[in-house]
Amino acid sequence: MSVHRCELPQDFVRGIVLIYVITGAASGIGAATAARLRGSGHDVIGVDLAGAEIDADLSTSVGRAQALEQITARTEVVDGVVPCAGLAGVPGRSGGLLTALNYFGAIELITGLRGHLRRSTQGAVVASASNSVSTSPGVSDSLVEACLAGDESAAIEIGDEVGGLGAYPSTKTAICRWVRRNAVLPEWTGAGITVNAVAPGATETAMVAEIREDPVIGQFFDQFPIPVGRPGDPDEIAAVIAFLLGPDARFFCGSIIYVDGGTDALLRADDWPTPL
Ligand code: NAD
Repeated sequence: MSVHRCELPQDFVRGIVLIYVITGAASGIGAATAARLRGSGHDVIGVDLAGAEIDADLSTSVGRAQALEQITARTEVVDGVVPCAGLAGVPGRSGGLLTALNYFGAIELITGLRGHLRRSTQGAVVASASNSVSTSPGVSDSLVEACLAGDESAAIEIGDEVGGLGAYPSTKTAICRWVRRNAVLPEWTGAGITVNAVAPGATETAMVAEIREDPVIGQFFDQFPIPVGRPGDPDEIAAVIAFLLGPDARFFCGSIIYVDGGTDALLRADDWPTPL
């Protein structure tokens, strides 16, 4: 009788169980990433408003502190952090609330878990950017700067002035800059922690369903060009996140990986790379 090589993922075969923290784990890209990692035999501590291991409102500093406290009560080591919790940039949404969650809810979790990531031999952060950073108008430089300065109350104020539509690509631009500025520092790469981001294009999740139903921008959503001819599936984004978390991605440092069916390439063919 011949013994066939098992199809199980390598980490599972080697018996290595890693611990990942995923925010927004109850839906969409976060849920797909959690399912993929669990399917590879790893542990996932999900954080979301409800329906994950830890319930917390990451748009508030109290909720972030509670999440960090509960994560710490469960583990001293975290192998990867994937902050997916986010709100869509629809015109009727408070840009301040969106800023508090999409930027500060992500960065405070990442920085709050740096000590846990250092204790791992393969610590990795994969932040959630978006192709809107280069394909949507309305990025507010002052909002980006307030985010990067860590001034949450100023950022919320500017976010409310800008509104949900402009706050979304602004917070994602700030995420990209934070990743590129910090990934290269001794605190991160010097501590053996990789820091990168995925920049998805339109991906079929609850977020996209909400945008499609929006009375102002919903009718335009499916007119946005996607060269591959369809929106992405959450698992297609999760696959890239899982790769960036894994052992084959240790040379990635400060990369923003577009996974968008070609939208950015179509709209900005010659705008990148930009010469030094
Ligand atoms: P989703 O709506 O399916 O999931 C977002 C999750 O965030 C939900 O589970 C929700 O409960 C959670 N959440 C909302 N408010 C929260 C709060 N205050 N505290 C804690 N959790 C909260 O969205 P998704 O499409 O899976 O988005 C995941 C990430 O990917 C987001 O950061 C989003 O901006 C980004 N993204 C999505 C797309 C897309 O087309 N879907 C494109 C680019 C980037």
